[in-house]
Amino acid sequence: MNLEKKGILVVVSGFSGSGKGTIMKELLKKYPEQYALSISATTRQPREGETDGVEYFFKETKEFEQMIADGALIEYARYVSNYYGTPRSYVEEQLAAGHDVILEIEIQGARKIKEQYPDAVLLFVTTNDAQTLKDRLTGRGTETAVVIHQRLARAAQEAEGIEEYDYLVVNDDLDTCVNEVHGIITSEHLKMRRRLEFVTNIREDLQGLMKGE
Ligand code: 5GP
Repeated sequence: MNLEKKGILVVVSGFSGSGKGTIMKELLKKYPEQYALSISATTRQPREGETDGVEYFFKETKEFEQMIADGALIEYARYVSNYYGTPRSYVEEQLAAGHDVILEIEIQGARKIKEQYPDAVLLFVTTNDAQTLKDRLTGRGTETAVVIHQRLARAAQEAEGIEEYDYLVVNDDLDTCVNEVHGIITSEHLKMRRRLEFVTNIREDLQGLMKGE
């Protein structure tokens, strides 16, 4: 039986500094045929080493607001005084092509996605403790003390919403995390509610076989 395999929309959120970006990069490197990573639009300034069209599509506020007006974003949110949003066309194309599409977005966006795509799988990535988060944000050296404080305050806020996610991944060891995330998505594909077409087909197949006897 050769049934069309539909892609799963995977939302990954996590505290700033949780290492979720690194986990996703590894996942894509390991399984390039299976996953597609959505590139968001943002009004935040590029960090050193970031390239337009790779980490983000960097936009002026006016351009971003035009994308909102055009319905070009599936969801958008404000995060620490900048806009971030998910372009619609790439996500829809990749899902239709059977790829699992990863959205690395914050919690307001995750909620909007769940409303529009109830079948989406929501993962939350965290470190073991708060100090590790602070150390990583400080060690990254890309943010000012004020922004680090704002990001930690935001983490405390987001922590209130963790139970809304389907899975919790603790980022202690990169390889373990990548395997866990891949395992979760692999199991999701096997869920009965995603396989009803297969079930219908095997029933018809059995009926056909009995009639043929
Ligand atoms: P950063 O500035 O560290 O790259 O990202 C800040 C936060 O914005 C992170 O939690 C990240 O997951 C989130 N984010 C990135 N892109 C999007 C997006 O398209 N939509 C929403 N809602 N959040 C996003």
